[in-house]
Amino acid sequence: MKKNIYDYTLDELKESIKPHFRAKQIYHWLYIRYENDFFKMENLPKEMRENLSKEYQIKNLETIRIQTSKDGSKKYLFRTNDGLSFESVFIKMRDKKRNTAGKIIESEKWTFCLSSQIGCKVGCVFCYTAKGGFVRNLSSGEIVEQVVWLKKDNRIPPEKRVNIVYMGMGEPLDNIQNVTHAIKILSELDGLSISARRQTLSTSGIAPKIIKLGAMNLGVQLAISLHAVDDNLRSKLIPMNKAYNIQSVIHAVKTFPVDERKKIMFEYLVIKDINDDIESAKKLLKLLDGIKAKVNLILFNPHEGSEFQRPDLKRVKTFADYLINKGLLCTIRESKGIDISAACGQLREKELEDSLKLKCFT
Ligand code: SAH
Ligand code: SF4
Repeated sequence: MKKNIYDYTLDELKESIKPHFRAKQIYHWLYIRYENDFFKMENLPKEMRENLSKEYQIKNLETIRIQTSKDGSKKYLFRTNDGLSFESVFIKMRDKKRNTAGKIIESEKWTFCLSSQIGCKVGCVFCYTAKGGFVRNLSSGEIVEQVVWLKKDNRIPPEKRVNIVYMGMGEPLDNIQNVTHAIKILSELDGLSISARRQTLSTSGIAPKIIKLGAMNLGVQLAISLHAVDDNLRSKLIPMNKAYNIQSVIHAVKTFPVDERKKIMFEYLVIKDINDDIESAKKLLKLLDGIKAKVNLILFNPHEGSEFQRPDLKRVKTFADYLINKGLLCTIRESKGIDISAACGQLREKELEDSLKLKCFT
């Protein structure tokens, strides 16, 4: 079986490609020129191009469907070489910043929401991805290639900064080896150059792996899907809470290295009449005491067959205001791509319902 060319850091590629400057040239073709044909890498000797194409696979993903939302966000449904499908989301946002003269400068900000697994083992009751169970981990190369695809397809110049969030399908800490390796490949200065500080890993709270990730000191940002402030409710929403309860997650978070100007993000999925009351906000404030935390309130995105409902925006704002007034940074996640089934896993499920012959569930 051929190796995936996107699976390697530059140093790893140099181990098998000599002389070393050739590895750097290949990196340039892959990550600056977004070239996915070895034969078009003109500055490589012809024989080398032939050998590369025999040894490495350069097209590991193809798109099955791209859906564009009215707000400019795009959802990509990919097919892997073994015939499985998963998705990534390209999110376009307007960013407002004040310059040194105090003038507001508007710019476009791009965030790529990547998948780390096909399916997921965690089984959160509110999540569409969970419905299909777990299929397999994505390789580092398959994670990296999502970024190349999204940059190429949206004609994003190589030097333009993008942000990465591991908030697509799957639990990244259940695939910690491939995900952390992908973080390194993405941050290579001769390649995509997306520093780990611009990459946010979101986890449902596998406490020992949060500690393990922290000890790796990669500089990656951490987001915790908390969603509930008492173990009873959290165990109902996220069954894994029975193994790693809220206190064990908080304990693990406290060991995680945080940059001076950064905070740990706590995602709180607000579900109508389940966890949207002010008492929960009070408990949340108490729980996060002593942690450099910011809270991101996510409005539950209903999907077919889901037992929960989207909360009232007014109630969510009251929740947020309470935290903000107490000095906790709190934002409400803008619902991007709501018209293209925004929450993770939904496009893939739709495709399955459309009974496309995908290996995993047919
Ligand atoms: N497995 C990781 C990362 C992928 S899920 C995690 O759980 O953190 C990314 C985020 O999407 C999580 O915060 C998750 O709770 C949220 N999510 C899942 N289903 C959702 C839905 N129906 N509506 C809104 N957010 C959802
Ligand atoms: Fe997995 Fe995250 Fe969905 Fe939970 S919310 S089932 S951890 S992808």
